[in-house]
Amino acid sequence: MKVTFPHMGYLYVPVRSLLNSLGVEVIVPPAISQETITLGTRYAPEFACLPLKVNIGNFLEAKELGADTILMAGGVGPCRFGYYSQVQREILSDLGIDLDMIILEPPQGQWRLLLRGLKRLTAKASPLAVYRAGALAWAKLKALDFMAKEMHPIQAREAVRGRTMRAWKEMVERIDDADNTKAVQEATQQGLALLRKIPLQTAKDTLKVGLVGEIYTILEPAVNLDIERSLGEMGVEVIRSVYLSDWVVTNLVLHTLHLRDDTEHYRLAAPYLNHFVGGHGLESISSTIEYARAGIDGVVHVAPLTCMPEIVAKSILPQVSMDEDIPVLTLMLDEHSAEAGIKTRLEAFCELLQARRNRQQTCHKRNCDVPAQCREGFTFEGISRN
Ligand code: SF4
Repeated sequence: MKVTFPHMGYLYVPVRSLLNSLGVEVIVPPAISQETITLGTRYAPEFACLPLKVNIGNFLEAKELGADTILMAGGVGPCRFGYYSQVQREILSDLGIDLDMIILEPPQGQWRLLLRGLKRLTAKASPLAVYRAGALAWAKLKALDFMAKEMHPIQAREAVRGRTMRAWKEMVERIDDADNTKAVQEATQQGLALLRKIPLQTAKDTLKVGLVGEIYTILEPAVNLDIERSLGEMGVEVIRSVYLSDWVVTNLVLHTLHLRDDTEHYRLAAPYLNHFVGGHGLESISSTIEYARAGIDGVVHVAPLTCMPEIVAKSILPQVSMDEDIPVLTLMLDEHSAEAGIKTRLEAFCELLQARRNRQQTCHKRNCDVPAQCREGFTFEGISRN
């Protein structure tokens, strides 16, 4: 059995580690390129979500490299992810492509199906080996998420553009190469040392932008056209709302143990949306409110075109933006989106945020308490009266 799986950011690092440790041969698909996307869109239905199309491209490219089995997550809930894997299976079968599929259904779905999938993957491993494989993969995922969080403020302040991205690539390779949890810890420490060596601009008061939206679009740089890198290289600190290890703990562990607590998300979103709409639709709203109240300068909301939960969020966010006084830029992406266009919109958005911050600072400086009648003509609603 030669197993492949879809790309989603650095997910391939822990998944490859897990499968290799279980004695399963792994074919990691080539990194997502324009060719991958073109291949996927050629065979997927036009109005399918972009992640489904890109996954198809991943599977076809991995098949070329010798993969014979796909490992795919299943889903439950109102959005289309629940039937993704079945649609993908049909598309591949219509193309006459012989790829077996192991679908790992979520625990809140059918336990029997989840156990059947896990049994196929763990057939060659003892319980102790399964535990060790899980611990190593988890350590890698936690380390990568930790390093990504550490990287964002440094990238926004780096003195020489591109240094942080080079360090990041090196860190990912080191964590990928680690073959036990101690080696992962060492790689993490080495990664931190690399980041600390990066020269920073002095006294740089950077803009901070929250990144919210659909999980795949947030996590996969080839699909979001490298939004985090673009913002970082504009000197903007990214506050990402979704990290994979947090998602795993919340959705797979706490949810299964009936310990999941979404009270805060529901409380914040309640004036606009009071029920689950699938994916991260509700969290896009609650996180935007949270960022506004934490003094973050603005929010970038990303999603694939036709993503149902994020269309709901998109229709609500303009009202949230006005009520909470935080600028929001929504980017709905599809296979036709291009990096130059997205970068231009991000640059314009960040210029607006900077101008807004300058005005606020000006008013604070002059101790202005009636900004609506400001002699300088500043009429922006966001100016503080304090
Ligand atoms: S969250 Fe959006 S993009 Fe993802 S499967 Fe659901 S509808 Fe599609």
